[in-house]
Order: sequence, then structure tokens, then C-alpha cells
Amino acid sequence: MPEAKFSRVIIKLSGEALSGNQEYGIDPQFINSIAKEVKEVLKTGVEIAIVVGGGNIFRGVAGSAKGMDRGTADYMGMLATVINSLALQDALEKLDIETRVQTAIAMRQVAEPYIRRKAMRHLEKGRVVIFAAGTGNPFFSTDTTAALRAAEISADAILMAKNVDGVYDSDPVKNPDAIKFKELNYIDVINRGLGVMDSTAVSLCMDNKIPIVVFGLKEMENIKKVVLGKEIGTFVR
Ligand code: UDP
Repeated sequence: MPEAKFSRVIIKLSGEALSGNQEYGIDPQFINSIAKEVKEVLKTGVEIAIVVGGGNIFRGVAGSAKGMDRGTADYMGMLATVINSLALQDALEKLDIETRVQTAIAMRQVAEPYIRRKAMRHLEKGRVVIFAAGTGNPFFSTDTTAALRAAEISADAILMAKNVDGVYDSDPVKNPDAIKFKELNYIDVINRGLGVMDSTAVSLCMDNKIPIVVFGLKEMENIKKVVLGKEIGTFVR
């Protein structure tokens, strides 16, 4: 098996990645295909932690736009990420991949609490660790969670698996002439408001020198390609 370019990565999956072709919720078949991909990637020897979003179930901003208290809506969003994390754990374990869910909001009947050193130990043992419930704080995102956890566990990179295959200068769905960037620096992403991550998350990556690779999840095997150092998508550093 070829050598991985990274020794430890965080894969960020948006909630929508788990809904497959559905508008809402979880598509078990699609999650199974992600789990199969993770199994293949593990064979390269890389340690994998995963942060899952919650947008397929609930987003705080959407709730507050309809009049809900933003803090309460954000806690609902964080709980949505726990549901997604359990679904992903189930799919991974069905493939005999040892997986631990660690949650930033205590719910000890459901998952381990987030403990940094324990998470790193799991990773060293080859287990996949899923970080659930975001950062545990409202007004943040799961992108920021990925950046924060990456800094905490000294991950070599954040792999942002998206619906589009990289970062473009304009929306490729609306503009057929949109140009894809091969490489970007953090400041350009922030100044140009490019849709890689929210600005809090990008700043955290910039301050801690964590590279971000943005690529499409639709084509399976892309996670493995990135881990093996193939130049697909957009590299932000
Ligand atoms: N959230 C939060 N704090 C965090 C992480 C997430 O309040 O640290 C909430 C927020 O409401 C967010 C929701 O959880 O809208 C789901 O996360 P996100 O929108 O990042 O998911 P994605 O867009 O990746 O599916």
C-alpha cells in the first residue's frame, strides 16, 4: 500500500454530505459509501479524526432567521451533529473499524466526553475518532470545530470534503466560466470571502499553520487521493 503524505488528518464532512441525494436527514447508503472510503484510507497508515456538520438536520442561523433565540438554535444544531456522528460510527463499525465518538456537550450515555489526550491515544491505536457537538459553544461552526480540534491534536491537515471539487473564483453552478484555484493562501480566502470555511475557522488555521485541502466528495476515492498527496481540489496554506 502506498505511503500517506500525512500522518494525522481531520476530515470535515458537512451535514449535507450525509444526506446524499435527499433534501433532509440521513441517507444510510451514502454514509456506507463514505465508511468504505474511510476504511480504504486507513490502510495507507494515516490516523483519521472526523468532524461532521449538522446542516442536513438543523442549522442555528436558519432557526434564528425564523425568530428563534440564536443560542438555543445553535445548541439544536450541535445536537444534530451528534445524530450524524452516531450514524457515521454505526456505518464505520459495521465495517469493523474501531470508532469512538467524543462529544463536546456531555451526554455520557451516548458518547465519550471530548478529552484531548484520550482522543490522541485512540488515534495512535488506529481508531477513528469522531468529534461531535461542535466546539460545544453557540455562535461557532463545525468548520471552526475542525480547525480547533486539528490544532489541539496536531493534525497535519484538514480535508474539507465538499459538494464542489475545489475553490472557485465564483459559483461554478451559476457561472460556467468560473475558475478553480489550485492553491490559495489564507489571507486571500478571508479577503475575497471565498467559500472554503467561515472566517473564524480560516483564521484559526492561519494562526496555527494548518493546511486545508478542499475537494469534492462526490467522487469516491478522493479522500485517499488527497492523503496520498495527489494534487486534486484546492490547497490552502
Ligand atoms: N454549532 C454551534 N457551535 C459549534 C458547531 C456547530 O453552535 O461549535 C451549531 C450551529 O448552529 C451550526 C450547526 O451546529 O449551524 C450545525 O453545524 P454546521 O452548520 O457547521 O454544519 P454543516 O454546515 O457543516 O453541515
